[in-house]
Amino acid sequence: MTLLPSCKDVQTHLTEYAEGSLPLGRRIGIWIHLRLCKACAGFLRGMRALPGLAKRALAPPKETPEAAVKALADVQGMLSRRPKV
Ligand SMILES: [Zn+2]
Repeated sequence: MTLLPSCKDVQTHLTEYAEGSLPLGRRIGIWIHLRLCKACAGFLRGMRALPGLAKRALAPPKETPEAAVKALADVQGMLSRRPKV
């Protein structure tokens, strides 16, 4: 058994690590690994960014329906003025 967990071990247990549900010894091993391995640290950053991205993706659009109708009318107007080739 090695002192530090492998990348596969870290990535397998990263959710539990982020939740703080791993035993202290395993948490310390993963913590050290994350300081030494850019790939796993990036994996953790990406995982932590997901809730924010999902929240933004599911948020209602900032545009009002009236703004969307106006934008559509503007596009239709531009298309109707487009020179025929
Ligand atoms: Zn790693």
